[in-house]
Amino acid sequence: MTDERTSTDIDWEEEFADDPDFQAIPPERRARLIEFLERAMELGLGAVYGDEDPDEPDADVDCASLTDRCQARCCTLIFALTKEEVAAGKVRWNPKRPYFIARDADGYCPHLERGTWRCQVWADRPLRCRRYDCRHDEYIWPDGFPRDD
Ligand code: SF4
Ligand code: SF4
Repeated sequence: MTDERTSTDIDWEEEFADDPDFQAIPPERRARLIEFLERAMELGLGAVYGDEDPDEPDADVDCASLTDRCQARCCTLIFALTKEEVAAGKVRWNPKRPYFIARDADGYCPHLERGTWRCQVWADRPLRCRRYDCRHDEYIWPDGFPRDD
């Protein structure tokens, strides 16, 4: 996930930080590849799918007791849906950036009920949402995870 939280400004270097094939490309060629990818996506010719590890477990975070403090900030993070999630059609994606999850103008996912901070597609939420563990993410918890209060 990126630290740039807009739907039109993807940090490709971070998106592919764990991809050895991408990292093996020399920097100047990588920049041209990213430029091409951005252009192809703008034209609707390119697509990026999320790549999930089948063995990764769901996160074990007690969101219900924390959303008054975090205000579901995780639902502003940007990530790509898997091919299966796109095919299922339950979760909206950004038509300008297929197949990254959609974000509203306020930065939040359109499936998040503002105020209650509840996911309205909870049963069908993406794997990335299920598995994301915010506890060590300084973007969510700049003062550390409030584990003891
Ligand atoms: S994963 Fe973390 S940031 Fe997201 S709703 Fe749960 S406690 Fe809040
Ligand atoms: S699908 Fe649900 S859990 Fe995932 S980002 Fe959207 S509101 Fe949050």
